Amino acid sequence: RPADRYVGRFAPTPSGYLHFGSLFAALASYLDARAVGGGWLLRMEDIDPPREMPGAQAAIVETLRRYGFVWDGAMLRQSQRQAAYEAAIEHLLDADLAYACTCSRKQLQAHPGAYPGFCRDAGHAPRDAAIRLRVPDREYHFCDRVQGEYRQHLGREVGDFVIRRRDGLVAYQLAVVLDDAWQGVTDVVRGADLLDSTPRQLYLQELLGLPQPRYLHLPLIIQPDGHKLGKSYRSPPLPPDEASPLLLRALRALGQQPAAELAGAPAAEILAWAVAHWDAGRIPRTRALAEAQLR
Ligand code: GLU
Ligand code: ZN
Repeated sequence: RPADRYVGRFAPTPSGYLHFGSLFAALASYLDARAVGGGWLLRMEDIDPPREMPGAQAAIVETLRRYGFVWDGAMLRQSQRQAAYEAAIEHLLDADLAYACTCSRKQLQAHPGAYPGFCRDAGHAPRDAAIRLRVPDREYHFCDRVQGEYRQHLGREVGDFVIRRRDGLVAYQLAVVLDDAWQGVTDVVRGADLLDSTPRQLYLQELLGLPQPRYLHLPLIIQPDGHKLGKSYRSPPLPPDEASPLLLRALRALGQQPAAELAGAPAAEILAWAVAHWDAGRIPRTRALAEAQLR
């Protein structure tokens, strides 16, 4: 692909239905890509079967279609990418950049905050153990297109983090970095709940020799009861027959100013208008927005 081509993506986790916060993220990543004639991919982040909600994958795809979204190529499922994740883990273990950790939950509960490094030099075998990545004792920073400069000291604020759980499940941080690179993603647009994951991802990109995408972290949508509409909260599904009003509402929340004539227009027409008029500079420069205040 040409070096200046934009490739964006939407990467839902099938632990529940899409909600207004997911629509907000899907819409922003879609518009940011399509406004420059870029590609837009759909990736199902289904690497945690115990947390998956039966039927969620099909419901997510159906809702995206109903809301007028069109993605390029076939959807990628992370469950198909297990071999690539395992190969990266082997490489990191062989290079001694990662190590096996046998700490019990109880031991770790006694030390909240950054992992204290108990197993760092223990030389445990990587069977029946979690795999942790050694983090450098330094600060990582990047310039987010909406949130501005973000800094985090990996050693002090995060500590050696898990890339494969003891039960064998691969961690989100590793999978997301490998897949964004593999799919040629140049621009990550997602919720600000993942802002503090980004420095870990930057470090993984550096270790694995992968390109660093640009980042745009959207304000999180907060419910009246204080719940964040992030990935951990199971909220009601987006109503299938309210695509137009909810797209308009999400557009306004993104600082765009949809023309009054669009009220009642089909979803595809609203999206076409929004692509033609997209201005990422109007996205509110805040970490959170109260859903109750959105009209
Ligand atoms: N799967 C993640 C979520 O639903 C998003 C991952 C990402 O955009 O990097 O919260
Ligand atoms: Zn340990």
